Amino acid sequence: MVNAVEKTNEDVPGRGILVFFQINFIVHSLSKGFGKKGQDMSEYFNVADIFGENVFNDSVMQARLPKKVYKKMREIIENGAELDLATADVVAHEMKEWAIEKGATHFTHWFQPLTGVTAEKHDSFITAPMATGKVLMSFSGKELIKGEPDASSFPSGGLRATFEARGYTAWDCTSPAFVRQDAAGATLCIPTAFCSYTGEALDQKTPLLRSMEAISEQSLRLLHLFGNTTSKKVTPSVGPEQEYFIVDRKKYLQRKDLIFTGRTLFGAMPPKGQEMDDHYFGAIRERIAAYMKDVNKELWKLGVSAKTQHNEVAPAQHEIAPIYAECNIAVDNNHLIMETLKKVAGRHGLQCLLHEKPFAGVNGSGKHNNWSLTTDDGINLLDPGVTPHENIQFLLVLTCILKAVDTHASLLRASAADVGNDHRLGANEAPPAILSVFLGEQLGDVIAQLISTGMATHSLKGGMLETGVKTLPDFRKDATDRNRTSPFAFTGNKFEFRMAGSQDSVAQSNVVLNTIVAEAFSEACDILEKAEDFNAAVHDLIKQYAVEHQRIVFNGNGYSDEWVQEAAERGLPNIKSMVDAIPAYTAEDSIKAFEKFNVFTKTELESRVEIEYETYAKTINIETKAMIDIAGKQIIPSVIKFTTALANSINSVKAACDADVSVQVDLLKEVSSLLAETKAALKKLGEVDAVGSAMEEGRSRAVFYRDEVKAAMDALRSPVDKLEMMVDKDMWPMPSYGDLIFEV
Ligand code: ADP
Ligand code: MG
Repeated sequence: MVNAVEKTNEDVPGRGILVFFQINFIVHSLSKGFGKKGQDMSEYFNVADIFGENVFNDSVMQARLPKKVYKKMREIIENGAELDLATADVVAHEMKEWAIEKGATHFTHWFQPLTGVTAEKHDSFITAPMATGKVLMSFSGKELIKGEPDASSFPSGGLRATFEARGYTAWDCTSPAFVRQDAAGATLCIPTAFCSYTGEALDQKTPLLRSMEAISEQSLRLLHLFGNTTSKKVTPSVGPEQEYFIVDRKKYLQRKDLIFTGRTLFGAMPPKGQEMDDHYFGAIRERIAAYMKDVNKELWKLGVSAKTQHNEVAPAQHEIAPIYAECNIAVDNNHLIMETLKKVAGRHGLQCLLHEKPFAGVNGSGKHNNWSLTTDDGINLLDPGVTPHENIQFLLVLTCILKAVDTHASLLRASAADVGNDHRLGANEAPPAILSVFLGEQLGDVIAQLISTGMATHSLKGGMLETGVKTLPDFRKDATDRNRTSPFAFTGNKFEFRMAGSQDSVAQSNVVLNTIVAEAFSEACDILEKAEDFNAAVHDLIKQYAVEHQRIVFNGNGYSDEWVQEAAERGLPNIKSMVDAIPAYTAEDSIKAFEKFNVFTKTELESRVEIEYETYAKTINIETKAMIDIAGKQIIPSVIKFTTALANSINSVKAACDADVSVQVDLLKEVSSLLAETKAALKKLGEVDAVGSAMEEGRSRAVFYRDEVKAAMDALRSPVDKLEMMVDKDMWPMPSYGDLIFEV
């Protein structure tokens, strides 16, 4: 058996340079005259024609709303002005008319409770039949701005015990409504926040919007200090890159582990894994290409700017990335991307796996969160310019971010904690569970100058890239190479947070990022606003932050054992599991930062911590039950059939002649002994799970599942994977890893 070398996309140099732009391809193909006479053009389309056609976006509002109402809406979206019922009524009416033209029969408040997925309750537009026997289609401002789903069945982490079960959804008019067309017909989806009766956030969106207000306010304070009086708002720009696996749906349906848990709980490695790197950026297979084309089309109609796509490192693994957008829209769009990836796969006889680690021993999936800060007049606060050493405002922003990440490293780590992500972070693949910041040569050098002399006098420049081939152009290189092993890397004019898991919402990561950077900005402004000599004070502060937080900067190989050692010496936290990451949410300095900017109250944080522990234990409990089911009902019976056939064959051979049957006998003995090991491990797993299930919800139960139950799961998997390599393939009850990842 050959074990595939675990390798992640981060390992591969130059990733991102050769991106496959399908938009260009399609537009290009069209202009090159696809669809000559008689050819069916229905499968080709012009992106510009369909882009955003199902979105109630700015141009639709401008075209359909009375001028005054449109102006009012812009005022509300841009500057947070109060929404009155009269305005809401007009918007609701136009939104309904528009949606009905798109075939919509229902509307739904679309929200993100703490279940990890989006939720919706559909209401049709019809009102009571009239005396004429006909129905009216109506949608009021009240229905647009407020919904009342029963909150009692959504996770609230104890908030429910103290407060009423009633929950409200509130229209987030900053994220445009859209019409979704699927088997259920067409539905008008209205992005909403979800709160309890007393206003506690029960979702991902509410704290995200609160954190966006905080970062905007503190960034403006900082900009004002540097003489900027024109910018009115600062928004985090976010571009999440989504990784996923695609497998054949028929094979998927034969794997109960994938169905119930999203990952394989058993499975021996195929002879070939990802060691040849031949899948990464490889030509996309026809079946997958057709699927991607459909995914893009659906997303473009929803106004999601799906931009790049390529094969990832692992066989059957792919990536899709949109063009970055305002933080909360980017998070909503990422949910749409995940939903669309899953939905469209079904139409192609495929199944999309979003789990962080569907296959042990094969690269897992993450979601890189690209993050920067942009003013309403288009200035990127993270743009260093050509000579960063002279860009004092940038250096202050940068050193504040270093301070924020260093001070709240554990919290940022916790924001990426998710049960599936435990298989990636700090386990056996990148990025490590240690937070550090990659600055690259140019900025690293500027910071080093600041630390050693207190002055940065020059910036390194990128040289020319010379290929040595006359017909290829020579061009100027970036001043800094990439580093794929860093969990928080500066990439030119943004930071890329690479810890988030593929199926998790990136809302939490952005809530934390926005809040901790707002805190650092605010502390810097508190000092600088009082300074008599601003220039001297800002200079001193940049140096102070660079010196105090230099330990978080690491430009080397984040995968190496030396780094783990060095990070420990630097005092950087290395938090390997979700269970150990969770407490960071309620650490004193986290509560202080969140409460200061009204992002979370202490009570909300405590409730989230409870939900995370519950989620952890429940997820592993489901995995355990799935393992017990599969081992007991499928694997053991199959192995018994195999041993019976083998024993019968030994007897037949013996009866026919006196040939040597020692090979068969040895195999029978070996298989029987593994079968006995399997049976014992299955019994043990049942016992520990029973103990875990009986425990009260909370931290100790989660710790028990991590330490005791997971070990028992591993003990069951081990003999089963060995058996898979010995038992007749025709008798094995489910498709193998090889069948799943190489035969799509
Ligand atoms: P990579 O080479 O890192 O794989 P991709 O092109 O796959 O790059 O993804 C980069 C993501 O970063 C895209 O979503 C892109 O829109 C986003 N992005 C680019 N510039 C910024 C920025 N200034 N702020 C936030 N996100 C950005
Ligand atoms: Mg990418």
